[in-house]
Amino acid sequence: MKPGDNPNWFAHSPLTRVNSEKDRSAFIETRLKDPNSILVPLWRGDPLVAGGKAAFLSAAALPECPKDAPVVLLGLKEGRAYFGVDLSSAAKDRAQAPFAEMGEYLPIRAAAGVVGRDDLAIIGHGRWLFEWRRKHLHCPICGARTELKNGGAKSACPACESEHFPRCDPVAIVLPVHEDHCLLARGPHFPPGFLSALAGYVEPAETPEEAARREIFEEAGVVLSSIRYQFSQPWPFPTSLMMGFIADAEARTLDLDTDELEEARWISRQDIDALRAGEARDGIFLPPPFTIARQLIERWAGGA
Ligand SMILES: [Zn+2]
Repeated sequence: MKPGDNPNWFAHSPLTRVNSEKDRSAFIETRLKDPNSILVPLWRGDPLVAGGKAAFLSAAALPECPKDAPVVLLGLKEGRAYFGVDLSSAAKDRAQAPFAEMGEYLPIRAAAGVVGRDDLAIIGHGRWLFEWRRKHLHCPICGARTELKNGGAKSACPACESEHFPRCDPVAIVLPVHEDHCLLARGPHFPPGFLSALAGYVEPAETPEEAARREIFEEAGVVLSSIRYQFSQPWPFPTSLMMGFIADAEARTLDLDTDELEEARWISRQDIDALRAGEARDGIFLPPPFTIARQLIERWAGGA
């Protein structure tokens, strides 16, 4: 698959990862002192936005951050190192967080429609690492507090010397199709009409295709035949790798698991086209373009 074949937001970071640097700690120390290096400030995973774009700072601003603010190395672009800095502990309110006077810490879903896609991919990478760190502060073996190492590439336990690496949780997300209809659904935590593709975590000892088949049967009672992988999306909510499928359903009958789904509907291609054109249809709202669910719908509507 060529990079251009993957339309997903949060993918294709313009940064080159710094994995081959022999002495990563020395590299990080030098680059953090270099004012040409870039800081990506995040507050609870939300980016600083100013003037309709992401506000990235010079590393010269680092002394204005709390000393204990976690810093992660995200990569290199045009010779500059990019670092994420987590300012969550500096303020309980986003308006009081460091650098907030420059703009606004915008909730990331809102920021997704504002900042450029390259910047969003960089922001998503930082958010991912900080979310992982926030939920894995302690060693899963002995319970001691771990330390972030190598610019966030891993954490290490000073007590038992074990090492731990950022999580990546695979999820299968599926657009079932039958003749000229596709199946969209919503869980009870979404408002009426806000429909999306069905998704579920890949379980231990399961392939993504098996997870796709199982989830759709468990939640909607729909049997899938051909399951076709389309593309993937790094999804920093908090640490998921979404793997997208379009799959043929054997029939359009539904048998909903009402604990999981409040509503599921087969939507015609004609209605999908109208919704994509911004027309109203039965109070349905398609998922926003930054979601892989929407990109699966777009691909199917485009003839896949
Ligand atoms: Zn330990």
